[in-house]
This record gives sequence, structure tokens and C-alpha cells, in this order.
Amino acid sequence: MYYIGVDLGGTTIKVGLVNDEYQIIDKIVIPTGRERSSEAVLKDMADVCRQIMNKHGLTESDVHSIGIGSPGIASPVEGIIHYASNLNFNEVNVREEIQKYINLNVYVENDANCAALAEAICGAAKGEKDVVVVTLGTGVGGGIIIGGKVYSGAFCGGGEIGHHVLELNGRPCGCGRKGCWEQYASATALINDAKVAATANPGSLLATMVEGNLEGMTAKIVFDAAQAGDVVANEVLDQYFKYVAYGVANLAYMLQPGVVVLGGGMSAQGENLTVPVTKYAQAQMCPGLELRNPVRAAILGNDAGIIGAALVGTTLQ
Ligand SMILES: [Zn+2]
Repeated sequence: MYYIGVDLGGTTIKVGLVNDEYQIIDKIVIPTGRERSSEAVLKDMADVCRQIMNKHGLTESDVHSIGIGSPGIASPVEGIIHYASNLNFNEVNVREEIQKYINLNVYVENDANCAALAEAICGAAKGEKDVVVVTLGTGVGGGIIIGGKVYSGAFCGGGEIGHHVLELNGRPCGCGRKGCWEQYASATALINDAKVAATANPGSLLATMVEGNLEGMTAKIVFDAAQAGDVVANEVLDQYFKYVAYGVANLAYMLQPGVVVLGGGMSAQGENLTVPVTKYAQAQMCPGLELRNPVRAAILGNDAGIIGAALVGTTLQ
């Protein structure tokens, strides 16, 4: 059996053919043309799904379903995208549109939830039924998997873990609140904190590594400077690890997942990130509620969205 996973983004539509071993065996990428109507975008999507099936000699009977990961809010079972940021999708019945062209079951799910589902089924948390995947990137997103299924609340908009408040009256957030976790634990926050530290300590390795151009600061530079023994970079990172860890501990108190997975751009740091975060998170847990497993880094990278989308249908039956 095969599965089709679609990563619907504001710039591109990526259609992947996934096999029983959860591998993407082929992928076709087309521009979204996001200014167009949802009908036009979905017709293109259906055409590419057909194209990838034809290319591999597959018919509808060989394919379990089409799963579509989309930014914004979607009802998986009904196949409806309620809202998608950067796209002209408002209350669109995606299933009906796709089924005009292909006779397959069609499911939709938030893209971050898709990526989390993939890490739970066949990625860093393979074998675990209760998993939280935290995406540390421009912001902090993620997905909550309970009993092997995405948990997104009563109205499909839950799981916005980046907007739980870590500090009362703290840093302003794009959501309108102050002190949200993502203002401290995102890669963006780490870079901003590193810029402040580099400015205050012009003699530090952290400052010299960007050669006076603060805009060139990256998360990798902070980690590299810290590993080279720079005290300032180590202080910035230590604070960052605590910010990440306190949020992870909050999630552990609320949900007690079997494993917490850290994804997004920061996950490239692997154990440089997960070991200190595990240590600080564990120190926050009370007796009896200790983390049973260390925090892990995501392993599927950019493929997670397509693989998770492809598998959404298998978790809903
Ligand atoms: Zn927020």
C-alpha cells in the first residue's frame, strides 16, 4: 500500500509518495500560486497526485489516502481547511474538491501537527504513543500526539504550545500576549539574546565571530563560540537551555508525554541541545513525575511534513 502526503505551503506544494516503510519514494514540487482561488490550487494539487501515481503505475486501489498538511486550522476527519495563513483558503472543503479528480479518501491536518505525527510514528519518538514535538525555529510551534493521534482540541486550533506564558509581563509576542515561551525559546530569541550579549561584550569570541556584523548572528555561531570556550556564548546558551527546559517541564506536568522531541532548525545541534535541556527540565520535575526518557532531537527534518500528512488518514480510522 502507498500513501500520498502533500505539504501545502504559501510558496510551494510538495507532493510525496510514501511506502509502507514510511519512506518518501518520490516527490514532485510545484509553485502554489497562492494568489489564485482555492479551486485552482486544489486542481493543480490533484493533477500532481495523479501524475505521481501514473509515474509509478499506481491506481486508486494501490493508494490508501491523500493527506494534506496545511498552515492554519483544519478539520482532519471532515477534510475542511478553515483557515490557512498566506493562502486564499477559508472554509474550503478540500476533500470534495480533490475528489472531483481522484477517487481517494482525503484528509487535512495542520502542517506542524503532521510533522509531529511523523516523528511519533517513524521518527525520533518511534514506538511512543504520547509525544510532544516542539519546533524551535523562527517561532516555537509543535504538535501534541496522544494515543498515537494528533490532539488539536475541540475546534482543531489547540496545541499552540509556543504561546504559553513563561514570564508574566515579559517580552511582547506577535499573538498579543507578553512573555510567551516562543519569545525566549525560539531560534530567533537565541539570536537576539546573542546580539545583545555580543554588543555588551565586544571582546568576546561571540562578538568577533560575527566580525562586527550583528545581522550575521546565527544559532550555530552561538553554539560554535560556546564550544570554543567563550564565556559569553556559554552564558547566553545556558540561559537559552533553561528557557527551553522550563517550557518542556511545563508540558511534562500537563501531559506527561513518553518523549519530548525538539525539532526545527535548532534540532541540528543534537545532543548539544538535548542533553542540557533534559538536565534542566528534569531538575524541575517533582518526585514521581520525573522524565522517564531524555529529550530527543527530531530526525526526519523537512520530510516530516510529507510523511506525517501521508499517514494522517491511517490514524483516523
Ligand atoms: Zn504568543
